[in-house]
Amino acid sequence: MAFTLPDLPYAHDALADLGMSKETLEFHHDIHHKAYVDNGNKLIAGTEWENASLEDVVRGTYKPDAVAQSGIFNNASQHWNHNLFWEIMGPGPKTIPSELEKALTESFGSVEKFKEEFAAAGAGQFGSGWAWLVKDASGALKITKTENGVNPLCFDQTALLGCDVWEHSYYIDFRNKRPAYLTNFLDKLVNWEAVAARM
Ligand code: FE
Repeated sequence: MAFTLPDLPYAHDALADLGMSKETLEFHHDIHHKAYVDNGNKLIAGTEWENASLEDVVRGTYKPDAVAQSGIFNNASQHWNHNLFWEIMGPGPKTIPSELEKALTESFGSVEKFKEEFAAAGAGQFGSGWAWLVKDASGALKITKTENGVNPLCFDQTALLGCDVWEHSYYIDFRNKRPAYLTNFLDKLVNWEAVAARM
């Protein structure tokens, strides 16, 4: 089915006081995400993927050794990644639901340790990519990082939280300070209710 750009689940200026400006969301959602949708639709037209679900396109076109060459994969995966990214942020309360807090503490020692490890993964991703909190096939929570548009679907993992560390996500608000963007993302932008709902 054709990809469609979802509306942001909040106003473009809703996160401005939390460290993600209206200008960033106008560029990031209205231009960058839209480009993945439009380019993805052009590339899948007339192919075997034309009527497949977005998840099937991502899983089916992932080629570990040829990510850079795979136009359909790159656009489909980035469309999926950004759908998740908008959903797991929000202007509302930032309380971590107790079942998620418990799982993070059991897996990483404490919520603060989890945040440190997640931020380090995102800061340590060389070039463009994503940092993730995933649940793997055994049910264990793990922190991962991926290059470009590669995402947890490629590894049969459930994505609970993802942070875009492409420069387009932080350069307007944080310039080159990716670690500060990541810390702010975890402390002010994440909607932990939405993360817990993905468990
Ligand atoms: Fe992005």
